Amino acid sequence: RSLQELVEKDILTGLYNRRSGEKLLKRTCENYLKDGVPFCIAIGDIDHFKDVNDTYGHECGDMALEKISKWIKEHMQGKGFAARWGGEEILLVYDDMQMDTAVLCMEELLEEIRGKRITYDGISFGITMTFGITEGDGRKIEHIVREADAKLYEGKNSGRNRIVYEMT
Ligand code: GH3
Ligand code: MG
Ligand code: MG
Repeated sequence: RSLQELVEKDILTGLYNRRSGEKLLKRTCENYLKDGVPFCIAIGDIDHFKDVNDTYGHECGDMALEKISKWIKEHMQGKGFAARWGGEEILLVYDDMQMDTAVLCMEELLEEIRGKRITYDGISFGITMTFGITEGDGRKIEHIVREADAKLYEGKNSGRNRIVYEMT
């Protein structure tokens, strides 16, 4: 691994770490303010991930997180970037994209995750995620992130395995 990768990426998932995620997001916001390039951000969280650890062990949980991150990374190729925001929380930034398109992309991603199985030590299980998504605008990054987070929690409270957004 290059030194830069070690600094920018999260070791387990290979996604950008929180610090680089924040830096890249800042740049995305600046592009919006300067040139009006639209963007959307989503915050996703793995559903009932504690159960995966409790049922199959922490090592299996790690592997599941690694797998999901790989799918997400592939999904984001050419669309923007993904960063590990917290333990099992992931930030997605769709660059040069408006809400309607970003939602379609997210629906595709969710469908893909729903359709996959994780296999570990002879066992196999499925996993789902919940996302809150919002379109970037002139507001401060903290506000945009907070809104995506609020939508994520709406999604958790209304049954998980879904995307929550407000189309304006
Ligand atoms: P919810 O659907 O509400 O998100 O339920 P949850 O069980 O996913 O939520 P909760 O916040 O209770 O648990 C998150 C779990 O994620 C607990 C924590 O141990 C686990 N976790 C976070 N990061 C890692 C990691 O790097 N590896 C493993 N194996 N587990 C992790
Ligand atoms: Mg969770
Ligand atoms: Mg969580």
